[in-house]
Amino acid sequence: MAEIRVQNLQKKFGDFIAVKDSSFTIPDGSFFCLLGPSGCGKTTTLRMIAGLELPSSGSIFLGGEDVAFKRASERDIAFVFQLFALYPHMNVRKNIGFPLLCQGVAASEIRSRVEETAKLLRIDHILNKSVSGLAGGDRQRVALGRAIIRRPLAFLMDEPLGTLDTEFRDLMCEELRHLHDRIKATTVYVTHDQLEAMSMADYIAIMNRGAVEQLGTPQSIYDRPATIYVAEFVGSPAMNLIHVQSSLAKGAKSIEISGAHIAIPETREAALNGHFVLGARPEHVRFDDKSKFRGEVFGTEYLGTTQIVTVTIGQGKIKARMPASARVKAGEQVGLTFMGDKLSLFDNATGLAIKTALHEGAVHG
Ligand code: ATP
Repeated sequence: MAEIRVQNLQKKFGDFIAVKDSSFTIPDGSFFCLLGPSGCGKTTTLRMIAGLELPSSGSIFLGGEDVAFKRASERDIAFVFQLFALYPHMNVRKNIGFPLLCQGVAASEIRSRVEETAKLLRIDHILNKSVSGLAGGDRQRVALGRAIIRRPLAFLMDEPLGTLDTEFRDLMCEELRHLHDRIKATTVYVTHDQLEAMSMADYIAIMNRGAVEQLGTPQSIYDRPATIYVAEFVGSPAMNLIHVQSSLAKGAKSIEISGAHIAIPETREAALNGHFVLGARPEHVRFDDKSKFRGEVFGTEYLGTTQIVTVTIGQGKIKARMPASARVKAGEQVGLTFMGDKLSLFDNATGLAIKTALHEGAVHG
């Protein structure tokens, strides 16, 4: 397996810049997600790593070698578009062994590697079955087997679970991650689905309009979004963003909203544009009758163990995650407080996070 390093990668289609000056390193053996909305440049980035698209400029190092201008066939990479695509007229054994047959590998070697791969995926008991009669989970394992049998330096996957229903997608996320933990293959996985990325990735690069907006572990991105864009993109429900028309001094430990003093992580820089944004995850919002920051309950959404309570405030709406047992009624007046040490702050003019004590000790992002 190998480290993948992308340096100042750029792709233009005519005048349009699809990928802007991207640089990131994917550590050897890690599961790396390119996450972002449709059209942000994920597939184009992946296709350049695969060798299916030539960069306009920049470098791509695969295991230390610059492969940016090498053909796909000269890069030791497996590209998985769609896990379900199998050859229906072949049995499981032939489907899995097909990539080795194409490479001219000897029949005895193919047999032993198919058996080894099938054992890894726990499908060695169905090797002689036709793929057309297989259940969904087994079909997925066969497709995976065909992808991993070559043992390439890296796997590149472009929305491989995109067409599956939710139940199968959850199962497949689990299986992909489990498989990755066993074979430790460097994997680059493209998705627009933040839940897929959060549940599988070691590292996530969040893309926006062709540029990498934040790179980090799922937790660092969730806890310390680098921009307003990331704060809104990651998390379900998304982070609450409360606009405050005032500047923020370096060293501030609290802010004032609607006459209420709200504790924040101590700021390490100032935001002097007269407009900043307070970011609070729904699980960091609390009800407190004594708080001067008040709102009216708009509605509740029951989720089993928790409920999401939407509260209308002067600046819009806030969502709070509460225990399902909490008794809350629409129309009720409530006071709001926040878990001060968890809050994010953003400069509205730049969209960038304002550095606070929360960022100290952050490893990524
Ligand atoms: P999606 O999930 O919808 O594919 P994406 O994030 O993978 O989104 P890309 O497919 O990388 O996005 O496309 C990025 C931008 O580049 C889009 O605006 C797309 O229209 C444009 N683009 C991609 N390929 C080409 C091409 N061959 N010619 C011109 N424009 C292209």
